Amino acid sequence: MIATLDYVAQTFDRFNALCFEGSLVRPPMRLSRAHGFLGKLTFTRRRNLLGSVRYADFVLVVSVAFDLAADVLDDTILHEMIHYYILSHQLRDTSTHGRLFRQMMDNINTRHGRHVRISHRTTESERIAGPTPRRHLIAVSHLRSGTTGITAVNPAYHDRLRRLLPRMSEVERCEWYASADTFFDRFPRSRTVKIYRIDPADLDTHLHNATRLE
Ligand SMILES: [Zn+2]
Repeated sequence: MIATLDYVAQTFDRFNALCFEGSLVRPPMRLSRAHGFLGKLTFTRRRNLLGSVRYADFVLVVSVAFDLAADVLDDTILHEMIHYYILSHQLRDTSTHGRLFRQMMDNINTRHGRHVRISHRTTESERIAGPTPRRHLIAVSHLRSGTTGITAVNPAYHDRLRRLLPRMSEVERCEWYASADTFFDRFPRSRTVKIYRIDPADLDTHLHNATRLE
């Protein structure tokens, strides 16, 4: 089935009552034709005068680019609702799908017989024909200075940069990802070791549906 706004809202209300004791306020909801994700929660980080961060402006986005089994669609909405619960209650987790997220996910799966997972690998048959998203090969470099940088790598130079990047003196370690997130469209595809600084929290939200490469 393909999501509609009514369906997303009804499913949200049903799970809110069932799994979150009705503690969630319905956020704005939006459908997207993007192929890069099934569902996502967008939000902003606001800093108050004392410098502490509050999460706000939540929007629950569900993709209509896939024809999913109802259970998979429901679990997708539920997955985003766990993010929404954590962030809207201003709770802190160890990472995007950190200890708290996994604990809540396991709890809900056990208690309510759901199959929420960290990521759902979509299949060709689920995909509704549309523009093919650009696939990006992303190197995330953790720098000795404590900052994070990324390189969107030209696939033809993958092997070369895989060897060269970790040898840079400022690079402590590298991780590699494949991602279809349109966020990465804006980075030039490097043939050389060029590292762009990035806010790790920002990066985290865009690596949400990425595949970690060994
Ligand atoms: Zn997630």
